[in-house]
Amino acid sequence: MIVFDLICQPAGHCFEGWFASSEAFAEQQQRGLVDCPHCGTTAVAKAPMAPAVPKKGNQLPAPPQPAPVAAGLPAEAQAVMEKLAKLQAEALKQSRWVGDDFAEQSRAIHYGERDAEPIHGKATVQEAKELLDEGVAVMPLPFPVVPPDQAN
Ligand SMILES: [Zn+2]
Repeated sequence: MIVFDLICQPAGHCFEGWFASSEAFAEQQQRGLVDCPHCGTTAVAKAPMAPAVPKKGNQLPAPPQPAPVAAGLPAEAQAVMEKLAKLQAEALKQSRWVGDDFAEQSRAIHYGERDAEPIHGKATVQEAKELLDEGVAVMPLPFPVVPPDQAN
């Protein structure tokens, strides 16, 4: 005998069903012999098995990284800050550091003068404002980024 976790399609009831084999389940399901004990529908399917399959690719989870923490904030606020810092770190992994060239490079991408790619770097408030005025999609990073050439 084999046990399956089953789920009914209309209501999402979860229940267990015992079958002689995987094929026996498939056959009984096709013939409408498997019904939900909660609502009686025969529209049932195997529930996704745990452990869940990773959503995209087979990337390993990133190792935890130390996040900047602000002192004197309530614990909830600190948790939010840490989460944001992690999100930023994740986002920047896909992005190239261009340092002081940020304004120039973002413009070049915006006007199609070079291949588009995610970049991050430094810009003055004035530069950022000009970029936004030109319709270049830039956004301030909530947390300071250590330039790679200064990381050690
Ligand atoms: Zn049901």
